Amino acid sequence: MQVTVNDECTACGICEDICPEVFEVEDDKAKVKLDPVPEEFHDACREAAEDCPSEAIEITE
Ligand code: SF4
Repeated sequence: MQVTVNDECTACGICEDICPEVFEVEDDKAKVKLDPVPEEFHDACREAAEDCPSEAIEITE
């Protein structure tokens, strides 16, 4: 799984709350720390993508 955050991100921090192992909010945008994302975090990444208010998290499986 590869996860990216597009420019719609508002740095709200929800994804980092859900999965801090993968997401980290920097100045004005969330960063993905693991590429590829290990299997153990896949469900959390899907949850973060669903909960992101800006629909900024893109997942490629
Ligand atoms: S939940 Fe979405 S908008 Fe909020 S920091 Fe993460 S990617 Fe950005």
